[in-house]
Amino acid sequence: MFRVGQGYDVHQLREGLPMWLCGLRIDSPVGFVAHSDGDVAIHALCDALLGALALGDIGHLFPDTSEEFAGIDSKILLSRVMERVRAAGWSLANADITIALQAPKIARYVSAMRECLASVMGVETDAVSVKATTTERLGFVGRGEGCEVWAVVLIEKK
Ligand code: MG
Repeated sequence: MFRVGQGYDVHQLREGLPMWLCGLRIDSPVGFVAHSDGDVAIHALCDALLGALALGDIGHLFPDTSEEFAGIDSKILLSRVMERVRAAGWSLANADITIALQAPKIARYVSAMRECLASVMGVETDAVSVKATTTERLGFVGRGEGCEVWAVVLIEKK
């Protein structure tokens, strides 16, 4: 049995805030406005996993009105979502993530991002793809106002 899930998230960028993406601290003069650590890529990935299980979304599971989640490391949220996936008898076949960000350039982080996400999810690194693109200076991403991420997952039950 297979199920597919997709997730999408956007976070606003602001000067002087930390930038976390796919579990890594990125060297950047701008970072994400958020209740948690703002890891927009992990949030999209969590929503994809929850979507595959029809379990709602990350905002429903971890409300941004709760003090418990203020500044929380999104890797903790991802590991909790993976616990839900496993508890329901499913395992992750693969995940594919696309990050749209004008700056900074994040290509040099991609290998470490894949390793980090795979280790949090307990899967092989080759089951996790991370791709980065700009939007050719078009739209809110192109103006450097925010970052947009799409994630797709396939889960399987044997
Ligand atoms: Mg988010």
